[in-house]
Parts: sequence; structure tokens; C-alpha cells
Amino acid sequence: MRRYFSQARDFIRNFCIVAHIDHGKSTLADRFLELTGTKVNQTQVLDKLAVERERGITVRAQTATMNYNYKGQEYLLNLIDTPGHVDFSYEVSRSLRACQGAILLVDATAGVQAQTFSTFYQAFEANLEILSGINKVDHPSSIPDHVEDQLKSHFDLRNPFRLSAKTGLGVKELLEAVIEKVPPPPGNSDGKLRSFLFDSWFDPKRGVICLIEIVDGKLEIGERIRSMNTGNSYQVQEIGWIRLDLEPRDVLESGEVGYVVLNMKETSEALIGDTFCKLNDTNIVAFEGFKKPKCMVYAGVYPEDMEQYESLERALNKYTLEDRSLMVQKDQSTALGSGFRCGFLGLLHMDIFKERLDREHQVSVIITPPSVPYKAELKTGSIIQIDNPNDMPERFLIKQFLEPMVQVTIIIPAEYLGEIINFCLKHRAVQDEIVNVDSKNTLLRFTMPLSEIITDFYDALKSITKGMATLDYEHKDYQPADLGKLVALLNGTPVDALCFLVHRSQAYDRGKLLVDKLKENLPGQMYEVMIQASFEAKIIARQTIKAYRKDVLAKLYGGDQTRKNKLLDKQKKGKKKLKMLGNIAIEPGTFQNILKTNN
Ligand code: GDP
Ligand code: MG
Repeated sequence: MRRYFSQARDFIRNFCIVAHIDHGKSTLADRFLELTGTKVNQTQVLDKLAVERERGITVRAQTATMNYNYKGQEYLLNLIDTPGHVDFSYEVSRSLRACQGAILLVDATAGVQAQTFSTFYQAFEANLEILSGINKVDHPSSIPDHVEDQLKSHFDLRNPFRLSAKTGLGVKELLEAVIEKVPPPPGNSDGKLRSFLFDSWFDPKRGVICLIEIVDGKLEIGERIRSMNTGNSYQVQEIGWIRLDLEPRDVLESGEVGYVVLNMKETSEALIGDTFCKLNDTNIVAFEGFKKPKCMVYAGVYPEDMEQYESLERALNKYTLEDRSLMVQKDQSTALGSGFRCGFLGLLHMDIFKERLDREHQVSVIITPPSVPYKAELKTGSIIQIDNPNDMPERFLIKQFLEPMVQVTIIIPAEYLGEIINFCLKHRAVQDEIVNVDSKNTLLRFTMPLSEIITDFYDALKSITKGMATLDYEHKDYQPADLGKLVALLNGTPVDALCFLVHRSQAYDRGKLLVDKLKENLPGQMYEVMIQASFEAKIIARQTIKAYRKDVLAKLYGGDQTRKNKLLDKQKKGKKKLKMLGNIAIEPGTFQNILKTNN
């Protein structure tokens, strides 16, 4: 095996590739790995989770260290792969902190898209040297000249590289330009150790693995270090570079990027953005910008069958161990029984969670419609967060509600402009900006409530524009909002699983939808059932289900008493599985139907 030696900082380059989804980031990364001899086969390695591969996104940042000889000099190139989704934008910002350069990649057949803008600005704000590349020029419908104009007029990026990550065209020139143009990482090789944690994950064999950059000094195996944000101390169990696999070494030096195993119990201990120094060093200044992860979407997760409660709990315990941003709390619902309240970074994060639960554990769950973390300003002046509307203080104690806002960027073909603006206004959007991207496409910017986009907003946007729209968003501050509690009642009893905070302007529509849906899904009962929806304690919609008795004996003309008894028995057993609510027997699955469609 070839043995690589560490390089002085001057010969290290730390860079990333940023792009809109599907513009070829993973394919280009693969070509770099081949070109540098880091890997030889043809399959993509940088996207590892199955869910990620299917959706064409990279959820977890994955880094690869490459060696490359340029003009007789050996270079150490660290390609830092950033997650390409807004749910993980804080992590992206931390990953960018470890880079000095970025390749902005644009698909020559599609041109700049919503995420091209956001990723460009992120790289720009991180003060990175930005190289631009127009990818897929081998494709018959590529229009590289046009894309070159776009890059110039929107980002002032000139002389982009024309690439085909598929055939390898231009890839070598681009990698060598990274060496020429991107500055080496700053830092002090002789100083006291300061290292920066920008990613972590859980490995079944080794436990928590942290990805770090050594900014000042060096870190050796066996040394004791300390987290500057928690004060916890650790001993370095293992340290090394990341190639296709982890490659253990004895030491990481200033400017290098690599992994370290510290015997942490769960990934939530590995705080993204944390600074590590040697255990006994003093007067060390921590790196700026450290934040704790914040959940932006909450949902209740209940086993469909109570017998599966323990399996669900086991699965959730495993996930919290592996996923530093997932929040899990025990919860109780009269309608759904014992379950959990889970917090996610965003919708994608929640979808990945659902898929994994489904695939990896055979637990059927009911997931309540997602909600955002609202806040309430109390009359006493204090501000509290409301993750679950059932735990809200009494209404008269609340001065006003606040809701989280986002700024969305949408790029659409100009012919859909009118329709899309109307659609967004219906979702309480306030228009910030309209810009022509080129003669065909328009960019729209709106500020709107996060709650409006966590349902089927993107799907609707896609269907209006026949799949042409691209969307991206970033989180903004909280704003006051005229919200109230919408509750479904069955025979006067509130159903806690069907309780939401909604905007006053939407209360009637949502209330009506809810009672209609309940009527449609609830089975007939032996007595009349009153279904109501209330908003701010006032009834705003109602429906009734007429009394009805399912006569299981109807088909038996007199006759055989034992058969009759059997059937009556069966009916009794069936009833046992039902959940009793407001005197009404509800079959398992009913809530699933109501919740699924009540977006
Ligand atoms: P990512 O989402 O940015 O990581 O994009 P991928 O690397 O997964 O590429 C998205 C799709 O574009 C895949 O089907 C690739 O095979 C294809 N692709 C990537 N680069 C090229 C290229 O240079 N030419 C052509 N024709 N297709 C490409
Ligand atoms: Mg990819």
C-alpha cells in the first residue's frame, strides 16, 4: 500500500461543490476520485443512504481526501461534500467554514435554478473562491452559451469551465484550477490545537464519528481534548483521513480535514460548529457561529397497533443515537394512545425518517399532520414555544401568537407567472421580488409562513407548472399572526389528535374539510353522532352521522343458532379493537385516513 505523508498547509486545498439537485455534483465528485486514483470503479460513492440515492440528494455531508501530483508537487485535496437541502442549511454553513473554495456547478440543459442562487450566496457569504462549471455539455440539448450569460449576469462569474462529468471532459482542468486559484487553509501550524467539528455520524462498529478540520496545531491519537461548548473532555481513540473508507493515521496536522473517534455516546453530543482544544490548554478562542440544531417541523408518531409500541420505541431510540437533530419525547393522546412527539429539522428530514421507519422496522405508524414551532407571547411578557397545540396555556393568558417565517425563491417559466403569484398569495405570501432570469424564466421571492409550505405546497407548485418550478427557502424571523386553535369534537368531546393552530382566514375552510372528512371516514353507529369543529371555542362547522346498526344476522334466514352465535362473537371481538372516543367506537385506520388527507 502506498503510504501518504501529510502536506504542509501550502499544499492543502479544501473545497466543495455546490449545485442545484441533479446538476451533476455527485458525478463530478466521482470523476475527481477517479482522476486522483482514490477510487477506480464506476459506481457513485458519495451518496450512501438509499433514500438519498433515490431522491438524488445528499443528506449527510461526506468528505473525501485525495492526493494529486501537480507540476511535480504532491497536493492533499479535501473535497467536502455538503448536504444539498435547506433542512440542513446550518450544517452546510459549517461545512463551508472548512472550505476556502467552491465549485458552482450548473446544468447546461437546465440553466440556473432556485438552488443555484441559494448555494451561490452561501458560498459567497462564506467568502470562498468560487469557480464555475457548466456541466453536461455532452448532452444534445445543452445550451452552454446561454448558461454562460446567466452566470455572468446573475453572479458576475466569468469564464466558466465547460464540463461533462459523464465523459470526463474538462474535469482535469477544473481540478487543477482548484489547486491554482483556491488558497490554502489559514491557520497556525505551531500554535495550540484548535479544531473545528463540522459533521458527525454514527457507525455501528466505532460509535460516533466526528469530522473535523485542524485549524491550529495538531492532534494525535491518545491525546485528551475538550469541547469548548460543553466542557466535556474526551480521549482520541482513533484519528485519520477519509477516503472511500476511514483510513487511520497517528496524527492530523494544521489545515487537514479528517475524522476522529472520541467515545461519544450519541451523535447529539457531537455539536456541529463546536471547537476542540487540548484538555489543559487555556486562553483558547472558540470559533464563531456555533448554534444548536433547531427543529422546525413537529409531528406525533403513534403505533397503529398498541402491541407495536415497544418496537417503535426501540426504533426511535436507535434513530436518536444516530441522528443528532431528531428530537423525541413521549406523548399521550386519547385518540391515538401512547406515542411520541418528534421534532425534525424540516420536511425532508421528516420524510427520510418516515421512510426509514417503514423500511427498516416493520412498525406501522400513524403520523399526525406536521406542524411548525409556533410561539405565544403571554400577557406577562414572556414568550413560550408551542410545539403541540394540546399543551397550550389558556387562551386568555396569551397576548399574541407568533409564527416562523421563510423566504422562498421560486423559478418558473414566465407563462405561469400570474397563476403562481395567485397561488402564493393564497398561502399568505408577501411578494419581495420579481426578476427575469432570462427571456423564458422568472424568479420570484416571497416571504411567507413556514406552516404554509410544509404541506403540499411544492407538489402543487410543480403540478401548476407541469414540473418546471424549482423552489428553495431559507428561515426568517418570527412574525405576529392571527392564529387560533381549531379542534374537532365528536359528540361534544374534543379529539386531541385533531387539534391544530390555524390562521383565522383559513379556519372555516379547514374546519369544514375536517368535519366532512370525519363524516366520510367514521363508521355508522347505533346512535346519532354529532361531528363539530370549533375555532377559538366557537363552533364553525358541523355534520351528523345518522344512527345505523350493522345487522350481521340479516343474511341468515332464521336457522342455525350456532352460526348466529359465531357471528355475534365475531362482531364482539371486532369491537374490542376499536378505540372509544366521545362514546364512539372508531376503527384503527380511521385516523390514518383522516390525518393523511387533512393537509
Ligand atoms: P447531483 O444531484 O448534483 O449529485 O447530480 P448527479 O451527479 O446525481 O447527476 C444527476 C443526473 O445527471 C444523473 O443521472 C447523471 O448521470 C447525470 N449527469 C451528470 N453529469 C452529467 C454529464 O456531464 N452529462 C450528462 N449527459 N449527464 C450527466
Ligand atoms: Mg448527488
